[in-house]
Amino acid sequence: MSLGRPSVRPDRVPTVRDLLAAGGRSFSFEFMPPKTDEGERQLWRAIRELEALRPTFVSVTYGAGGSSRDRTVDAVERIAHETTLTPVAHFTAVNHSVRELRHLIGRFAGAGVRNILAVRGDPPGTDPLAEWTKHPDGVEYAEDLVRLIRQAGDFCVGVAAFPYRHPRSPSIEADTEYFVRKCRAGADYAITQMFFRAEDYLRLRDRVAARGCDTPIIPGIMPVTQMSTIARSEKLSGAPFPPEVAARFERVADDPAEVRRVGIEHAAELCQTLLDEGAPGIHFITFNKSSATREVFQALSPEPAVAKAG
Ligand code: FAD
Repeated sequence: MSLGRPSVRPDRVPTVRDLLAAGGRSFSFEFMPPKTDEGERQLWRAIRELEALRPTFVSVTYGAGGSSRDRTVDAVERIAHETTLTPVAHFTAVNHSVRELRHLIGRFAGAGVRNILAVRGDPPGTDPLAEWTKHPDGVEYAEDLVRLIRQAGDFCVGVAAFPYRHPRSPSIEADTEYFVRKCRAGADYAITQMFFRAEDYLRLRDRVAARGCDTPIIPGIMPVTQMSTIARSEKLSGAPFPPEVAARFERVADDPAEVRRVGIEHAAELCQTLLDEGAPGIHFITFNKSSATREVFQALSPEPAVAKAG
């Protein structure tokens, strides 16, 4: 991270809150910090290709266990300085004391980043469902992280939502209750875990609204482009892949090009239904590749996206 660069003046950086309040639909793209030089080139190819679609914001994930801390800050800072995009930094509580968390929030502020997605974080290692252990001087829940960021300055804060409930939540009711608490702690909007059926998002939205919470919830969508994604989807989404959707893919399972075509078609139908049902926008999980996301985006009806400020 080049701390020597001049900071962007915070009052000139649009927040996701302002961009959502501007009305219309929000379209956003999620990237991962690169691990290698080739990964870096692929990320920047995807960013440049998707920049042309003028998304409302783009977000950069924070590696499980906080492993990619510097790479996340570097990517977010570069997006802030070298593109026309509004970056959102994912930020997790894993392996960090409150002191370190405050320091990191300061680094984001110094890099001109006003938009942070506060998530508790996956545990270190390869299993996102492994035991989560709080740092002895850290915070326990995303709700605490939201408060910490809010206390640190004028940030716009997003949080995570789970259509199928978080795997650790004892019940869907408890999950909704804690989600609403997290919103009331100061979240401006939420982004969901990926899901593959519109009803699953709509039920989440109804549960949250029934508790009097109107925090905008943006659906997180990942187009399925290969059969292996379906096999991994339970680990990724927290629920078995819906059998009626799986049946569409199974009919063409032997033909990779057809699988991809069905995946784009299914994602576009899902996004269109969500938008028609009043979702505030779509957050595309890109895995740093632009083509599937671009094809889904272009298949949607051409209502203008939320205007990009700044
Ligand atoms: P929390 O809101 O803290 O919830 C965790 C669990 O605790 C839930 O079961 C919840 O119901 C429960 N809970 C919450 N509050 C209380 C309370 N007061 N008392 C008792 N129980 C409570 N992971 C990464 O490592 N890096 C990323 O960049 C990243 N980005 C993500 C982006 C999105 C859009 C989503 C949906 C997830 C992302 N994740 C990321 C994964 C996320 O960190 C994990 O799923 C994590 O296990 C949960 O995070 P959370 O913020 O929802 O946690």
